[in-house]
Amino acid sequence: MFLTRSIRHKLVGMLAGVLVMLGLLAGGSVWGLMAYRSLVTSPSIDEREAGSAAEVLAAMTRLRLEFVPPETAASEHYDLDLDAKRIDEAVAACGRYRLRLEDFPQAVRYQNVIAWELLNELEPHLKGLRSQLSRPASKDVAALVNRVAYLERLASQLPVLPDPMKLRLKSARDTYQSGYELVVAGSLLAATLLIWMVTFGYRHVLQPIQALHQGARRVAQGDFDYRVPINSPDEVGELAEAFNLMTERFQEIASDLDGQVKARSQQLVRSERLASVGFLAAGVAHEINNPLTAIRWTSESLEQRLAELLADVNDDDASVVMRYLRMIQSESERCQEITRKLLDFSRSQDTQKSQCDVAAIVREVVALIGHMKKYQSAKLIFEVSGECRIEINGHEIKQVMLNLVANALDATDGCGTVQVQLVENVDDVELRISDNGCGMTLETIENLFQPFFTTKPTGEGTGLGLSISHRIVTDHGGGIEVHSDGLGLGSTFIVTLPRQQHASVQREAELSLQAH
Ligand code: ADP
Repeated sequence: MFLTRSIRHKLVGMLAGVLVMLGLLAGGSVWGLMAYRSLVTSPSIDEREAGSAAEVLAAMTRLRLEFVPPETAASEHYDLDLDAKRIDEAVAACGRYRLRLEDFPQAVRYQNVIAWELLNELEPHLKGLRSQLSRPASKDVAALVNRVAYLERLASQLPVLPDPMKLRLKSARDTYQSGYELVVAGSLLAATLLIWMVTFGYRHVLQPIQALHQGARRVAQGDFDYRVPINSPDEVGELAEAFNLMTERFQEIASDLDGQVKARSQQLVRSERLASVGFLAAGVAHEINNPLTAIRWTSESLEQRLAELLADVNDDDASVVMRYLRMIQSESERCQEITRKLLDFSRSQDTQKSQCDVAAIVREVVALIGHMKKYQSAKLIFEVSGECRIEINGHEIKQVMLNLVANALDATDGCGTVQVQLVENVDDVELRISDNGCGMTLETIENLFQPFFTTKPTGEGTGLGLSISHRIVTDHGGGIEVHSDGLGLGSTFIVTLPRQQHASVQREAELSLQAH
């Protein structure tokens, strides 16, 4: 319970502990001093010689022996002062005896009830005797003598009192014993409290602060994975939690920045490559295209001519010649396809963007590809029936969708499932193309948009489709994201297109075209 309190409460608790400790020590000392004081100031110590039963008896005996009451009022030899003196001495002896009795502890006093009774009888008798002596006219001598003898008997019955010094010593010893026990217990408690306070203060105040300090140093050295291991529900715990949150945020920002730097560098490399490809494409494709067209035409016309000329030649030779001619035609066709793509890449046919129904474009692509023979056994799903108008270059976006859907179907070997979804957001539209095909490694994902990157067998892929698609989408101010959980786990491409084209994007697109 105490551990869940704030540091302020813990410090107040520790201060209370110190006060208890001081109180215990001070209480013990004061108690000891008081006991010592009561011992040294005890009246029995000064008057320990006085007030014994023997003294009272001696005083009474003296009184009886020397008591000479006057026969008559005019008795000449009667010494009143002497008798009065003896009576006073007896009264004083009784007084001291009483004093000692009173000074005894309660228990001892109760044990001496007889002493009290005797004293209470002796003292009034003595006083009565003295007053009788001062009035000699009314005295009865025999009665007086009997009275004195009676008083002596009473005095002889007084119990002998225990030695007050012994009693005092016993009580002092008891006091000392309990005082000793109290001081030992108090000191042990104070020492335990002190040890507890030091350990507690170290564990719950110093150690957490040290841990925080160490955490701050490690984070300052760039170790953003480090978390301060403090869970205490006090101020230091709150500080550690805030510190860990701050480190987490730092880590997010750092990894975000890393990601951005990586993406930007990749983009830069890609743009440079694309620019160089564009530059090459503009020159080479144009130069190669014309000879390729010539090769194709001449081989076609040669084929027609040879068909007549080879009529007399044996069938085997004729078929070899014709096969070679067709190979020349198909390979030059393929080369033309590549140069066409390169030219597409280097310049756009139509840079104008207008409000187009992107759903209709996707439907068109799905219908077109669905009719292709090699994808007959694949399942292609697109279930959007309404319209979705955004500002795009319809021709280019169609090219992008054709490329992405064809790639997805290729990844399933033409017999899997490809689903196209259209997600409308406030500012943009997402086209998601998911397949359950071969999936991709991390390396493939990283190189996907590089020109000429392909995993398809030679002659089947150019490796230009995705770089062209990427360029088109970024020219629209959008982006392409790729997700795949690994080989054999399918892939998803997400194309994001803004609903409206910003002037700056359009301008950039125009500038990039001019540059190419
Ligand atoms: P090409 O299709 O001519 O190879 P692309 O640029 O269109 O060129 O594609 C580059 C490479 O990206 C492909 O060779 C293929 O390895 C990979 N790829 C593209 N789409 C997918 C997909 N849906 N699943 C798996 N790999 C893909």
